[in-house]
Amino acid sequence: MYRKSIAPGIAVFGEGAPADCAYIIERGSVEIAIEREGRLVVLAALGPGEIFGEAALLDDHPRPATATARTELDVLVVPRDAVDESLRGAHPDAYLLVRSLLTRLQAVHERRASPPPAGAMRDEVVRTLTIEGELRSGLDNDEFEPFFQPIVDLDTGEIAGFEALARWRKPDRGLIPPIEFIGVAEQTGLIREIDAMVLTSAWKGLAAAQEAVATKHGRAAKPLFLSINIAAENFVDMQLVTRVRELLGTTGFDPALLKLEITESGLINSPEIAYRVLTELRAMGVSIALDDFGTGYSSLSYLHRFPIDSLKIDRTFVHALASSERSRAIVRTIAGLGQSMSLKVIAEGIEEESTADMLREMGLRYGQGYHYSMPVGRASMAAMLLAGGVVSS
Ligand code: C2E
Ligand code: CA
Ligand code: CA
Repeated sequence: MYRKSIAPGIAVFGEGAPADCAYIIERGSVEIAIEREGRLVVLAALGPGEIFGEAALLDDHPRPATATARTELDVLVVPRDAVDESLRGAHPDAYLLVRSLLTRLQAVHERRASPPPAGAMRDEVVRTLTIEGELRSGLDNDEFEPFFQPIVDLDTGEIAGFEALARWRKPDRGLIPPIEFIGVAEQTGLIREIDAMVLTSAWKGLAAAQEAVATKHGRAAKPLFLSINIAAENFVDMQLVTRVRELLGTTGFDPALLKLEITESGLINSPEIAYRVLTELRAMGVSIALDDFGTGYSSLSYLHRFPIDSLKIDRTFVHALASSERSRAIVRTIAGLGQSMSLKVIAEGIEEESTADMLREMGLRYGQGYHYSMPVGRASMAAMLLAGGVVSS
């Protein structure tokens, strides 16, 4: 770890440069930009206390963007293999984020160290082609449906909304979880149709359940938000904007109750179009959550550039809360980040009451996980609402 001063206009690193350091800004500012179709697109302008180049810590890939000093810049350079205790004293928040990234880097390296043999790769291609064919016919036969997992207000225990999660009801195999088909659906573009189906069907399912609750009580049901996962390929496509606009127009549903969960990959691959799509969605009143927060490449830069209003803390950090001081510190850091940037923070993967207690103490307001409820089908979701909430253990 060492300090470096860089004059304005000079590149700290360029696109394609080897990725081996993270930089923490001590003074001045830096601009992170990417070249697309011959034009420079600025991803973020960062200032003191902020980290950039985190991608470097994740793997051996060359850097996807160029970082240029905007003003006289003083940075603390943290090489991949030199994160030491002195960083903890100088920059405690940065230390924690860097450490968490390094832990995952280790996992990537371990996976690379034992690549699959050639026969296994051929099997993988055959498997992908088979699933693709089955996915197509499954879509034609309406075999996909949304499940619903409640997102709970941690203070009151009341349901604040639901996340819709795709399930494939395959006649010969029963209910299939996304892990078995989302990957292939993304590779083949079929994810567009799946996401569109989930969006419409979950919306309708929740509206019908809310209507039943209203009928039972003789007054309007408490408004609940609906979170929908949107694959990176989809939200860099203006069609998503059209589809959401149509849906809101035909159903009269309140856009403020629709939350789209996105991950970082689409933001980094096509930042310009992602920016346009997200800005138009926000203008319609729809909110945007950054999913799996804390596991991506350079999450912090995106918060400056894109109109994001919620963060979902990845469940790996939540699971480790009780056992790891580091995870507690990471969650606390993200909670603080949310507070200072006025972002809603939602914790995923709460499996125990003790975890919910800790999260509450850290100031978190929303959570979801098996402790409250597994994702359930439409009928159970409606029954849950009619019964007045989650039937938590
Ligand atoms: P995700 O968006 O991070 O969704 C949360 C996942 O965590 C869900 O897995 C959920 O069942 C699981 N989960 C919830 N609470 C707990 C808990 O307490 N402990 C543990 N261990 N897990 C919990 P699921 O339904 O299998 O979905 C997996 C992933 O597939 C999702 O991760 C999301 O990335 C993707 N996915 C699911 N549905 C859709 C969809 O309609 N469209 C797109 N594009 N992706 C989807
Ligand atoms: Ca999600
Ligand atoms: Ca997630």
